[in-house]
Amino acid sequence: MALYVQKFGGTSVGSTERIEAVADRVIATRKQGHDVVVVVSAMSGETNRLLELANAIHDKPTPREVDVLLSTGEQVTIALLSMALEKRGCKARSFTGGQVRILTDESHMRARIKEIDDKKIRSELAEGKVVVVAGFQGIDDNGNITTLGRGGSDTSAVALAAALKADECQIYTDVKGVYTTDPRVVEDARLLRTITFEEMLELASLGAKILQIRSVEFAGKYKVPLRVLSSFEDDPGTLISLEDENEMEAPIISGIAFTRDEAKVTVSGVPDVPGIAYQVIGPVSEAGIEVDVIVQNVSADGTTDITFTVKRADSEQTRDIIGRIGENVKAREVTLDKKIAKISLVGVGMRSHAGIASKMFKTLADESINIQIITTSEIKISVVIDEKYLELAVRALHSAFELGDEEKS
Ligand code: ASP
Ligand code: MG
Repeated sequence: MALYVQKFGGTSVGSTERIEAVADRVIATRKQGHDVVVVVSAMSGETNRLLELANAIHDKPTPREVDVLLSTGEQVTIALLSMALEKRGCKARSFTGGQVRILTDESHMRARIKEIDDKKIRSELAEGKVVVVAGFQGIDDNGNITTLGRGGSDTSAVALAAALKADECQIYTDVKGVYTTDPRVVEDARLLRTITFEEMLELASLGAKILQIRSVEFAGKYKVPLRVLSSFEDDPGTLISLEDENEMEAPIISGIAFTRDEAKVTVSGVPDVPGIAYQVIGPVSEAGIEVDVIVQNVSADGTTDITFTVKRADSEQTRDIIGRIGENVKAREVTLDKKIAKISLVGVGMRSHAGIASKMFKTLADESINIQIITTSEIKISVVIDEKYLELAVRALHSAFELGDEEKS
């Protein structure tokens, strides 16, 4: 007998019919003899609706009151699901985050879980009940309701699974699982059966649409096996877990992530002296702007170029900052390019294989795609290219590394 934490997202509990379907699924797991703790989101659209209500009244509602308001969304679904379970003769009990003591810090709307008291849940499980917990919410030391940030129910589920040492945390959603790349770009993208936490974090640009990336970090830290699967199909989905050392045939590349939401800033012709990188990047990070890729060229003539990427939404502000310091650092020129895309090949198998980078570069060269920046880490190689070649590049790489689903191609 195992203990599963099953989390159902907004679409999965989007109507009373769907809530009843969730109840059937939970009961099917119970019938196999397992204990189940269910975590639910608010009905789809509900959190946004509540936020609009708040904004209709106040431009800047206090975060404490926003949390009191938003947490009601999940309170509705825990009660309805418990009723649906009871109607089917299954003993069930709903709990808000505070009732099962999901203790968080005091940062409203982006609270972090500090600790969970598992006693209450364990005693309910021991009485043969299904425990239904409201996702996305907790309580701080002073008894205030807190919420964990948008998409936070995933993190609630993982945290509960960690506290209860559950055998698996299953995230039921509206897609079948994690794919080798975005199926909207590459038609024969293949559903991955297993993937490591590390890879999933690197594939965040694909996975972020499926689950809150913070929940993957959490699951990795506490070694909670995490499964992403569809609540509308019978399919085991994708299991995210630790690297299996015994697995001889670990694929070299697991997936291809990409993003179009970055911009490239180049500061050229600055003197190549100690402290120059700090003078350029320092003010940008001080403004709270996240810098992603950074490259600096070797200098032949005593000057150097520093190129870095930031989120496209931050790029104008970044240029203004650099423009202001440009004169001090004696930059020859500051340029901003918003039409770039970053593509990353990800795979733990890369660690033990040479030649991945050259194959990647050859594939892009064969398509006459110019690479602007290259960066690597142990399990990832990223390139920045002109945005207009993004789809071509992803498709070419996907087929060069034979990632496709044969049945679909
Ligand atoms: N209902 C919350 C949201 O929409 C939390 C969640 O669904 O995970 O962000
Ligand atoms: Mg969600």
